[in-house]
Amino acid sequence: MNLEDLWQSTLAEMEVQLSRANFSTWLKQSRLVDKQEGTLYIALPNNFAKEWVENKYQKNLLGIIRNFDNSARKLEFVVAPQHVATTEKLAPIAPRVERLEAHMGLELKIDPETNLNPRYTLSSFVVGPSNELAFAAASAIVNDVGTKYNPFFVYGGVGLGKTHLIQAIGNEVKKKYNNQIRPKYVPSEKFTSDVVWAIRNKRMEDIKKKYRDVDLLIIDDIQFIGGKEKTEEEFFHTFNALYEHNKQIIISSDRPPQSIPTLEERLRSRFEGGLIADISYPEYEMRVAIIKSKLQEMSRILPDEVVDVVAKRVKKNIRELEGILNKILFYQERKQAPITESAAEEIIEKSVQNLSRRVTDGQILKAIAEFFNITVEDLISHNRRKEVVEPRQIAMYLLRDMLELSYPSIGERLGRDHTTAIHSFEKISRDVNKFALLNQKILMIKDMIYKV
Ligand code: ADP
Ligand code: MG
Repeated sequence: MNLEDLWQSTLAEMEVQLSRANFSTWLKQSRLVDKQEGTLYIALPNNFAKEWVENKYQKNLLGIIRNFDNSARKLEFVVAPQHVATTEKLAPIAPRVERLEAHMGLELKIDPETNLNPRYTLSSFVVGPSNELAFAAASAIVNDVGTKYNPFFVYGGVGLGKTHLIQAIGNEVKKKYNNQIRPKYVPSEKFTSDVVWAIRNKRMEDIKKKYRDVDLLIIDDIQFIGGKEKTEEEFFHTFNALYEHNKQIIISSDRPPQSIPTLEERLRSRFEGGLIADISYPEYEMRVAIIKSKLQEMSRILPDEVVDVVAKRVKKNIRELEGILNKILFYQERKQAPITESAAEEIIEKSVQNLSRRVTDGQILKAIAEFFNITVEDLISHNRRKEVVEPRQIAMYLLRDMLELSYPSIGERLGRDHTTAIHSFEKISRDVNKFALLNQKILMIKDMIYKV
């Protein structure tokens, strides 16, 4: 039996033993690449799949293989992208992964003092008609903190650059004034959970100190505060305290102040007393510029026709644009050849379909359970074993990321309170940028969600 046949027969057996999703996630792209003495070399497309198959299926695989070839003694697992024929050719891949990881690690260290992510800068923010005013205000604020445009309220749809722009202001201020002006960034849900915690533990003074002892307070996604009385109350007082001392306040929201129905009138009129700017959908030229600037940041190249295809097709969300761009680059890297227009079209088509297909919370939990080889009950249980803690955190992260559920409803779904949901979401959001492996897991789970 040649290697190809041996492997096909082995996989056919495994396919019967595993669920469809598990089989296609872990083994479908595996190959038997070599046999030396009694050792069989099995290639998997990435490090995570390699470790997984090695730990979970090694024994099983060897058992099956030995039925077909009793000279097999041992399995070795290697990472190899598709279409690389032998293990010798694999060497150059390792440094590339290392470089990528170094790049990720270096780039994304969140400053614990200010909570700012240094990746967001004004110079990496592409400016066009859709965000010109917001950008001009941001630049003016950096030069004139607390006096001009205070408060600054910026609003716009999902993935259009609000978080990027307001964090960039914080980063520029920090740099320019050599830490003399202290910025602080906080998502409004974190503010809310801090207030709830302080009330429960009678530590209101801590909160006052934490948020009033800054020179530039940046609150992201304020729409989530609306309707939470105590939090609004505390925010109002924080707002006034800062404002009276000429401290700068920056707020973002997915809609203008008058469209947050639950927002208290007095807060709304405070916001309206400053500068309000919106960010709308980028037009074609700007989408091209954004793609080119991302390529440059990553030192990558794409054919012009492909840039054009992406810019023409992905219009309403820059985060989505980045996601598709990454997929295309990943594809190109694996093929080790420039991607064609039609291959790019296909990737876009698939992603857009996936994005518009409605996913349910049940599907997400099921896919995660299946991926980690545990049950949905394990996810919801109070079990604290390591094997279920991370999957549970990922579950909370994905419920938020994919369905935009509120923290209280995520908590409820998993039998936890909302602070646990916030904590998990924040932890995974942070880690996913730091650890390539976690990122890989999450990409694979997402794929699986769309497959089942
Ligand atoms: P929002 O907070 O509005 O949902 P983000 O600020 O998180 O959106 O932006 C989503 C992604 O798009 C981020 O990776 C961000 O860096 C990128 N992005 C958004 N606007 C721009 C822009 N004008 N130039 C470059 N990158 C941008
Ligand atoms: Mg945001």
